[in-house]
Amino acid sequence: MYLRVSLTDRCNLRCVYCLPEEARFASSRASFAELSRLTTLIASQAGVGKIRLTGGEPTLCDDLVEHARHARSLVGTVGMTTNGVLLQPLLPALKQAGLNRLNISLDALDAEGFRRISRRDGLAKVIASIRAAQRLGFTPLKVNAVAMQDTAYAELVRFAAWEGVHLRFIELMAIGEARPFQAAEYVAAETMRARIAASGIALSECLERDEPTSRIWTIDGHPPAACSVGFITTMSQPFCATCNRLRLSSQGRLFTCLMDNAGIDLLTPLRSADEQEVRGLIARAVAGKRPPARFVRDESMAAIGG
Ligand code: SAM
Repeated sequence: MYLRVSLTDRCNLRCVYCLPEEARFASSRASFAELSRLTTLIASQAGVGKIRLTGGEPTLCDDLVEHARHARSLVGTVGMTTNGVLLQPLLPALKQAGLNRLNISLDALDAEGFRRISRRDGLAKVIASIRAAQRLGFTPLKVNAVAMQDTAYAELVRFAAWEGVHLRFIELMAIGEARPFQAAEYVAAETMRARIAASGIALSECLERDEPTSRIWTIDGHPPAACSVGFITTMSQPFCATCNRLRLSSQGRLFTCLMDNAGIDLLTPLRSADEQEVRGLIARAVAGKRPPARFVRDESMAAIGG
């Protein structure tokens, strides 16, 4: 199983497809001791082989480095998904703590486009973090871009080739703030590839995949190890049948599907010192993991851990 732990629901950006400008965040969250204990219990009960730290924005969590170290004591692969704005100074400590996979979200390469999507400034800091992560040897370094109608597909692919990173376009989902405009802004992976090809860039599909969720293409003229383009086809080719993901929120709720709006409260039994109950809840949740009835989520990705 693959566990994604949301360290906080707070975020320093307000991406138009994720959070409203006046986003309200949870008034309380599980402590480091509680969240790390729940992580341990889920890892052992569900047979977790890989953990990803996410949010909200994980770099806003004061205990981020300790979480990375703790996660690495449980499993060999520990990743993080971040917007990269506050990342650069944290990189050496994260590397030392054992973080060995890094995804940095970046939807636009010009300051105006970045501000329009994220409603904040920060492009230069994100690019500085990408380059610092490269220098520190975070490989393969992935850059995630949410695909919308105005996304600069070809520019992002050229950026990936130039910087030597692995670009992943994520199909826009009807989650959080994106619900009212998802249908109008949605671009399927096939259309993205057609747009990239129309700009004169040749991509060739790789047979191998780094994750079941992502088909990978090499950029002609560049070795696959140096850079690649992938498409997370949650909408056009859902991967529910092979999904092995669990999510733990910063409020200590366990979700077995991104489209699950309720989750299961593990924090209350943990606080009652009833670890047998927590283990039982985890076992039942994992046994009952099913594809969603509807592909819509009321809350944002930030709330559940994107
Ligand atoms: N703050 C971190 C970041 O920006 O990478 C981690 C959390 S963020 C919620 C995780 C990922 O979810 C990001 O790559 C983000 O772009 C993506 N995301 C959020 N809302 C989405 C939506 N409606 N459709 C597709 N992807 C979405």
